[in-house]
Amino acid sequence: MRRLDRDFFEPEDEYESDLLPKKRSRTTRERMNTLLMVAGMLVALALVAGLFLLLSRGGGGPKIPNVVGKTYREAREKMESAGFDIEIDSNQDYSNVNDLDKKKVEEQDPKGGTTAEKGELVTVRLKGLVEIPEASEEEATAGQPGNSAANGEAAQQDQSAADEQTQPVTTTAGGRSVCVDPGHSGPGATSVIDPATGLDVADNSGASGEIQAMWDLGQKLKAKLEQAGYTVRLTKDSANANANLRTRADIGNTCSIVVRLHYDPNLHALLFPGEGQYKQHGDKAVYVDPTVARGSAELANALFPFLKTVGVTRKMNDMGGTSNNTGPAFVGSVLSKVPVVLIENDPSMARNNPSGQDRVASAIVSGIDDYFENH
Ligand SMILES: [Zn+2]
Repeated sequence: MRRLDRDFFEPEDEYESDLLPKKRSRTTRERMNTLLMVAGMLVALALVAGLFLLLSRGGGGPKIPNVVGKTYREAREKMESAGFDIEIDSNQDYSNVNDLDKKKVEEQDPKGGTTAEKGELVTVRLKGLVEIPEASEEEATAGQPGNSAANGEAAQQDQSAADEQTQPVTTTAGGRSVCVDPGHSGPGATSVIDPATGLDVADNSGASGEIQAMWDLGQKLKAKLEQAGYTVRLTKDSANANANLRTRADIGNTCSIVVRLHYDPNLHALLFPGEGQYKQHGDKAVYVDPTVARGSAELANALFPFLKTVGVTRKMNDMGGTSNNTGPAFVGSVLSKVPVVLIENDPSMARNNPSGQDRVASAIVSGIDDYFENH
């Protein structure tokens, strides 16, 4: 205590001592000083911590490049080299656009400069693409006036759709049987005209790696369906067999339902033919059978909740279903006499990913189980 007292009166403090009452006030001042010093240190610490947080958030993660105004090709390259995925807004129809790479990006989400995790999916909208009318639950069962207005036969189609509205969906041929149609064919003629309809039924295209991946997925799906008690038929007998869309549809029409397997780098969707949709080649047009449209909508409704868990993001009517004979894969759905869906899978699930394929196959089986609970 004495020592302390002495310390209080060190020479440098001496000149203040006559302005203030002595000993007691010095102790209070000392306490105040200590308190202020501690408080100051805490504030400084908080500031440093805050600054650190701010810096690490702003500069730590990779930033999404700004690609607005760039061509789709440039945008894709930029995103991919920065470690992000890119997709075209699924509300835009790009199925029949052949110079997609040259289209300019008009919007992106998330915006350029945003910090994100690697692998983040960036959605872009391209200039000059047509919007796809979305199939809501009601439209799925009530037809699509927007689409059917495209053709003079539309009114007639709508009328027959209304007439058959009360009739039950018929799933004939073979009871609970499922035809699995693994996407695309091995090499063959680039054009094959179906004598019965006049449509071009050639199908030897597909995305890179799609034929083999869909064949593998088809094998898994077949095994799981058979295990669940279904009769299963594949629409071709090897990955690279050449089987045109007429041949596949004819096989598909021997089953209760058809599940068509595809993948697409951008569109991860469950597609089903809608009432009023058609495919046309020259002056020959084939409309979706209204009964098939309704059954397909029901099949899609049963499948979608399960497919959502394996990367399929939306349920919609066939793209290109009101167009000329482009987007050829959809010709297969137009030719169907039984409920049919076409799944555009996410390649990250369905390509070079056996466990992903297992999950997709299991999801499809669950959806089919649900469908057959009511059919
Ligand atoms: Zn495909």
